[in-house]
Parts: sequence; C-alpha cells; structure tokens
Amino acid sequence: MTENKQYRCVNCGKPHSALYKTYGPTLLKLTKCDKCKGIVDKYIEYDPVIVMIDIVLITKEAQWHVLYNTEFKSYWKLFIILVMVETYGLWRRDSLFNIAVDSLCGMRNGSYNNTHTAVPEILKDQCWAWEQQDRSNDNDLFIMEKDFYVQFISTFSGIVMFMMILHGLMKLTKPLSSRYEVSFLRVVKGFSLANMSILFTLPMLVWGNTETSQETKTIHYLLVFGYSFMVFFNVFTVIYERSTLATLSAVAAASLARFLASLYVTPALRDCIL
Ligand SMILES: [Zn+2]
Repeated sequence: MTENKQYRCVNCGKPHSALYKTYGPTLLKLTKCDKCKGIVDKYIEYDPVIVMIDIVLITKEAQWHVLYNTEFKSYWKLFIILVMVETYGLWRRDSLFNIAVDSLCGMRNGSYNNTHTAVPEILKDQCWAWEQQDRSNDNDLFIMEKDFYVQFISTFSGIVMFMMILHGLMKLTKPLSSRYEVSFLRVVKGFSLANMSILFTLPMLVWGNTETSQETKTIHYLLVFGYSFMVFFNVFTVIYERSTLATLSAVAAASLARFLASLYVTPALRDCIL
C-alpha cells in the first residue's frame, strides 16, 4: 500500500513504510533501503544534539530526517519564536532589511528626506514609514508596543507571501513524472526549520550597540543572509526534489516577494493607525 509509505530514506529519498523492525522486546533492526543499499534513517539512533548540529551544518540527511521521519510537532512554536526574533530586529531598526531600506531611501540618521532624487519610484511613497520612530517620550510605552505589533504583522505577511509564492512556483515546475504531492503543512515545517538560521543575528542584537560600526553590522547581517539562503535552498530541495536551478530561482523570487510584502505592509498599517 503506497499510503503507508510515509517515511523517506535520508540518503536517496525513496519512500518506505517503516524505519525499523522489532524482533522481540530488546532486538530492533534498522531498515535498509533497497534503492541505495544504505540504512533508511541512521538518525533515529542519534542524540537530538547531533541531529541539531547536522542541521546547522546544512546536512541534507538530517533535514530529510526531521521533515519526513519525525513528527516535528513543535514546528509552530518554533515558527512563532522566530517571527518574534525577526520582529525584534526590525523594531530596533537593526536588521539587513532596515539597512537595505535605509540605503534605498537615502535615509540619514534614521530620517527621510523626501527631496532625495535617487529613490526608486516604487519606494517613493513607502519610505516615510521606515523612518526612525520618536521614542524619546518614555511615558508613551503604548507607541513602542504598537510599533512592535506593526512590525510583527509586517514580518508575518512577508513570510506568508514567501511560502505562497514558493509553493505556487514549485507547483508550476512539477514534473509530470513526480507522484508525490507536497502539502502546505510540509512547507510550513520546512520554513520553520530553515528559518532557525535567523538565530545567528542574535549575537549582534544582544551585544551590538551604538558603538558597533555600520560596516560590521552590514557584513554580519549579509553573512547571516547568505547562510540563511543556503539553508532555505537546501531544505526546499529536500521537500520538492526539483532541479537546482528551479529551486534556486523559486527561493530567490520568493525572498524578493517577502521583502516587497514587508516593505508595503508597514506603510499600509501605519496609514490605518495614524
Ligand atoms: Zn535510499
């Protein structure tokens, strides 16, 4: 029965119905893959810490293991925590996104000068929303809190856009020979797993201060972005099993859509609130 073949071989991706067989209470034998002759999932015997290290090292086998051979129930908690981390960076105006917007809008010290002529046309009406908010008025905590919610919704919209564009593009490039349908839930799980790379921005968010130079920040965030892009590319290669070029272009297009969504949602929200 094909429906029962829910597990995947971590080496070649072939579906299997079981990861191991039990012979009595103490004897357990790991299933061997008849396609690649390897053990279907060696990770079921490994310590979660080792799996985690292999995930950080972008090991495809470990990604197969987490996405197909474990329940990965806490993906939604991970998802929310990571959105919070990303929102915190945006709220502090301390992220690659802010650096990009600031340089595109020609902002100086967080304020936008609308006479700046080199601003791209699509950005002209959005720049004001990304100005440094006046937080000198300490007794108005509500404004700071409201700002956090705005950034949260903006980040969340970007992520939804990313997943929808990616899933849509991957459906379009689905080869006729492919029998496996990828569920949207799997995409959300893959996203949560890959988005863990955002945690590498934490050292800068925690220890970075006003004395940290802009160059250091930019280099750090660019490195994290590069790493993150590699992780996303690998995770979605595992999930969709498409060619390198198709996955690479889809992840790039989805990342651009994510950037644009966040860019437009914040001004729209601020318009509603003000
Ligand atoms: Zn195999």
